[in-house]
Amino acid sequence: MTAVPQERRVITAIPGPKSQELQARRNAAVAAGVGSVMPVFAARAAGGIVEDVDGNRLIDFGAGIAVTTVGVSAEAVVRHATAQLADFTHTCFMVTPYEGYVAVAEQLAELTPGDHAKKSALFNSGAEAVENAVKIARSYTKRQAVVVVDHGYHGRTNLTMALTSKNMPYKNGFGPFAPEVYRVPVAYPYRWATGPDNSGPEAARQAIEQITKQIGPENVAAIIVEPVLGEGGFIAPGKGYLPALRDFATEHGIVFVADEIQSGFCRTGQWFACEDENIVPDLITTAKGIAGGLPLAAVTGRAEIMDAAHSGGLGGTYGGNPVACAAALGAIETMKELDLPARARHIESIMKPRLAALAEKYDVIGDVRGRGAMLALELVKDRATKEPAPEATAALAKACHTAGLIVLTTGTYNNVVRFLPPLVIGDDLLNEGLDILEQAFSEI
Ligand SMILES: *Cc1c(COP(=O)(O)O)cnc(C)c1O
Repeated sequence: MTAVPQERRVITAIPGPKSQELQARRNAAVAAGVGSVMPVFAARAAGGIVEDVDGNRLIDFGAGIAVTTVGVSAEAVVRHATAQLADFTHTCFMVTPYEGYVAVAEQLAELTPGDHAKKSALFNSGAEAVENAVKIARSYTKRQAVVVVDHGYHGRTNLTMALTSKNMPYKNGFGPFAPEVYRVPVAYPYRWATGPDNSGPEAARQAIEQITKQIGPENVAAIIVEPVLGEGGFIAPGKGYLPALRDFATEHGIVFVADEIQSGFCRTGQWFACEDENIVPDLITTAKGIAGGLPLAAVTGRAEIMDAAHSGGLGGTYGGNPVACAAALGAIETMKELDLPARARHIESIMKPRLAALAEKYDVIGDVRGRGAMLALELVKDRATKEPAPEATAALAKACHTAGLIVLTTGTYNNVVRFLPPLVIGDDLLNEGLDILEQAFSEI
């Protein structure tokens, strides 16, 4: 890995002068619609540290939005990708195929839940994978309707905007959206009116009733759900919700799709988050953590469903690019060698108690939640009313950034601080990041 000292260092204001200069160039040249969490430009990165162009070293609790799970310059990723770069960069799998693509598909069949025969198709981005899961499910079922859940996020392309719940910033002004998309309630334990324990069974009952009454299960091609919701606010649906939807899908010949783009690849302490309730999805979409930062995504699932689309119906010029596939093989090798699911559970064992202690101290924290290294705090103005506190959330994130800690916010109400450290981060950096967070709470 790149030799970046694993120590926080703040030697200028953040952003520093060089970042500010680049920010001015950026503002002139880059479209305003592409936002950034911090106006700080990266120079090098490794392990749990991102070094900026001014020489500041920031502790990374974001991992490029759950992407650099194995680290941002993991040795095996760099080695495999470099070797592939030297051999060839592209032939197009749809013209003359190559082994790396097949090897990634074999790994996906081995690692994803279920021991049925599986096949995969590879793409460039998460949104593209979700779109293709819909194409495949529609081909297989010869039905059109797609069911998604409240607070769900599936991407920024036209179909995935339709599947995504939240208007601002993802959808506002970008319609019209794709038809035949239906949204049903999700078990959001913290905000469930009759209490967290009831959320799973009650939300499942409501969802199933809506599907039955409003769409007709015989018209539904797919139910798509994130086993832990990412952009919606790191919501792990109340127990029983996912199994009930899974069973309902089986009963009615509906393709059950787990969107594990954010929650997958060791992040929650298991290879895939749906393993927590022993869910075996028919199709699973992956991206983010799959290739150590190179653009790759996949749809993996039951062979008979994956084979339903006609030859030439799936694919794309770059899908399953050989360098990205090589990187994925390096990333998966690293996950196995370092047992990163266990490492994610270790991170939880350090972070959860300290986050819980913060919640004892600060009333603004309404909920501490998440699994593995996918953890979050939901901030509220009042614990009784649970009125969201987006301003405090933004102020907290800003205070962390200024002190040299990268944190991201999320959530339908913009009031969730989320933690997604690379799984290879050292315990000392983890604790130091938590110290900074604690200091930031005392300031806001
Ligand atoms: C990020 C994300 C996507 C979209 O992936 P992109 O690579 O940004 O297109 C889809 N689903 C979930 C759950 C995600 O977190």
